[in-house]
Amino acid sequence: MRSFLKKCLNILYPRCCPVCHQILENQKALICPECAVSLKPYEGPRCMKCGKSVAQEEEYCSECSQKKRAFTEGRGIYFYDDRMKASLLRYKYYGRREYGDFYAAAICRYGRKEIERWKADLLVPVPLHPSKQRRRGFNQAEYLADRIGAFYGIPVSGRVLIKKRKTKSQKKLNAAERYRNLQNAFEARERLDGLRILVIDDVYTTGSTMDAAAACLLEAGAAQVYFLTVCMGNMG
Ligand SMILES: [Zn+2]
Ligand SMILES: [Zn+2]
Repeated sequence: MRSFLKKCLNILYPRCCPVCHQILENQKALICPECAVSLKPYEGPRCMKCGKSVAQEEEYCSECSQKKRAFTEGRGIYFYDDRMKASLLRYKYYGRREYGDFYAAAICRYGRKEIERWKADLLVPVPLHPSKQRRRGFNQAEYLADRIGAFYGIPVSGRVLIKKRKTKSQKKLNAAERYRNLQNAFEARERLDGLRILVIDDVYTTGSTMDAAAACLLEAGAAQVYFLTVCMGNMG
């Protein structure tokens, strides 16, 4: 019965490729064969803190060498280029929830080494403000965290960290404004004493959101805060 229902749904709402947006010929695949070849995770030298690409001889990106980070370490899988921007846009705003299955699988696969090394006790998605989540219908980061947690057998909680204050869109703000915009935006609802937390989000750009979330988790007692994201901005 379930597979019958699934077949009907696939006819009504066929799954699409998260990169080229064409209907997938193989409805069980997460990405089309052409895009599977052309979309590659970043494998070059990385900032030891945030995982952004750096020149071979550099340890830290310009942002992390200027600023103390609250998080311990993290990385993004793909570059946040035009096609990934378009992909995430459709995932978040145009109902292409199945793209999340592809993103989660990519984090599980390409983040494996880090996940095994960091030994997180708990996965925490970056929260949305409740009014924003109602409008969007789901939290894109929680959708990913649920799948990654299920794959690795790590508990997930979308409740320990909440967004209590609405914040302006970060896109047009500079670094100092981003920082101010996010101060006191998050709140931890539980004590997290001694826990190693892995935060999940869709994109890492300047790191101001991740820093604010990590600072809040540390204040609640977390021992370490790591992060993994689907995409990361270019060299800082
Ligand atoms: Zn494709
Ligand atoms: Zn960095």
